[in-house]
Amino acid sequence: MLMPATILDGTRIAQEIRSEVAAEVRAMAAAGVRPGLAVVLVGHNPASEIYVRGKVKACEEVGVYSEKLAPPESASTEELLELIDKLNRRDDVDGILVQLPLPAQVDAKKVLLAVDPAKDVDGFHPMNVGFLSTQRPGLVPCTPVGVMEILKRSNIPPAGQEAVVVGRSDIVGKPAAMLLLNANATVTVCHSRTRDLPGVCRRADILVAAIGRAGMITCDFVKPGATVIDVGMNTVTNPEEFQRFFAGNAKREETFRKKGSVLIGDVHPEVVEVAGAITPVPGGVGPLTIAMLMFNTVKAAKMRRANRAF
Ligand code: NAP
Repeated sequence: MLMPATILDGTRIAQEIRSEVAAEVRAMAAAGVRPGLAVVLVGHNPASEIYVRGKVKACEEVGVYSEKLAPPESASTEELLELIDKLNRRDDVDGILVQLPLPAQVDAKKVLLAVDPAKDVDGFHPMNVGFLSTQRPGLVPCTPVGVMEILKRSNIPPAGQEAVVVGRSDIVGKPAAMLLLNANATVTVCHSRTRDLPGVCRRADILVAAIGRAGMITCDFVKPGATVIDVGMNTVTNPEEFQRFFAGNAKREETFRKKGSVLIGDVHPEVVEVAGAITPVPGGVGPLTIAMLMFNTVKAAKMRRANRAF
């Protein structure tokens, strides 16, 4: 009989990383340097406001200086380019984060391209994408690098393993695949046009789901004993859908009753019975994203000031 999977506790790992980053920030402060993060939040997207609040709070906790810049919803591409240019020039700003999505009238690609690659703490600039794919030092997107930290700190080395990544976005899927390849896994990337997705996923020793579809990865996608990393963050509000995923789960039922919604990943909760190790949602990959943003801000500060105090 199979044992239920080991739960990979992202909250604990993220806390560990935040403590390490805080210690580095204290050491830098002793040398007279305070890493700084500028967060650009355009307009009033409620989800973005929550994310930005979380990021600013994390900065306070680890001792990073943070500044929120909030241009109006009507901001033009030109206005945002001017703002980015000012932030690029400021010496007290080590990291620049442009919270996505940007309003429809803004050319988001142009704005992201304007961020100085040395301050690009999201790792989205094509120069950082190139550094990652050619294994040069650079800034790597927070969520996929968080996935790698979970594997590393849970003693699950990817070298020689079959890794399957479902999803090929620039933000998660592609950089996760590249990081796994750089860590010597044999990597397959799947997407909406993949033939026999369950069959391909069943080959995986390490399965990364970054799809955006509630509970899509069911037991028949998973090789017994595989490590399953669930990047998905989906909200369930429909009572029937809730029952399909969480019937009999008292804790989730209470949350659903109180809030009218629950968070679920791309992996069906039943997979815990088949996987060898699995990240929960919430409390898996999610907390790593902000922890790695703090890590990247300090990394950017150290790299940019390499010829000076650090
Ligand atoms: P995205 O840009 O929408 O990409 C989704 C990917 O999944 C695409 O490559 C798409 O394929 C693929 N896909 C969609 N339906 C599929 C299907 N039925 N079969 C196979 N592949 C399918 O999403 P994303 O930004 O990468 O985010 C993915 C998930 O991660 C979302 O739930 C998001 O909320 C979550 N996320 C979490 C964090 C965190 O901090 N935990 C951070 C970022 C994102 P095509 O390319 O063919 O369309």
